[in-house]
Amino acid sequence: MKKLLLHSCCGPCSTQVIDVLKDQYDLTIFYYNPNIDTSEEFEHRLSEQKRYCNAVGVKVIDIPYQPEEYYAAIHGYENEPEGGNRCERCFRLRLERTAQYAKENGFDCFATTLTVSPHKNSVIINRVGKETSEKVKFEFIEGNYKKQDGYKKSIELSKKYNLYRQNYCGCEFSKR
Ligand code: SF4
Repeated sequence: MKKLLLHSCCGPCSTQVIDVLKDQYDLTIFYYNPNIDTSEEFEHRLSEQKRYCNAVGVKVIDIPYQPEEYYAAIHGYENEPEGGNRCERCFRLRLERTAQYAKENGFDCFATTLTVSPHKNSVIINRVGKETSEKVKFEFIEGNYKKQDGYKKSIELSKKYNLYRQNYCGCEFSKR
């Protein structure tokens, strides 16, 4: 099986994507989310991510909280509406780091859980993934995991494992 480094924004979103990919790839979760507002929230989402991955036997690699990387990436775009240029920059930051890490650490390809959310545009995310793939020269596995009731299934799995489900995307701007 190919070794896939799967960027994950949180445990609940990863549930369904892990379910779809686990029989096709040797999966490792990559938790790199400097966009999350407050270190407490970051750590809470990470601990839920680890708890779920422990339950289903998937490894987790996490990168310590560095919000300054997010603020540098979205500088000048703070007031964009959700789904606009700020989010595209946020996706790019996280996918580039995932691709770089995967390339330097013996993985074969990378992907992200981000498209499972109905609030996120999978066309933009997959375009950013492909552009990142060309830039880093590393294979991106495209996907739209909200398809075939993917989001609904992620909620069901989250309930089954009693996972914390946050009510905002991540950054301070998405709380408004
Ligand atoms: S709303 Fe979500 S995707 Fe958009 S910038 Fe904030 S954390 Fe990133």
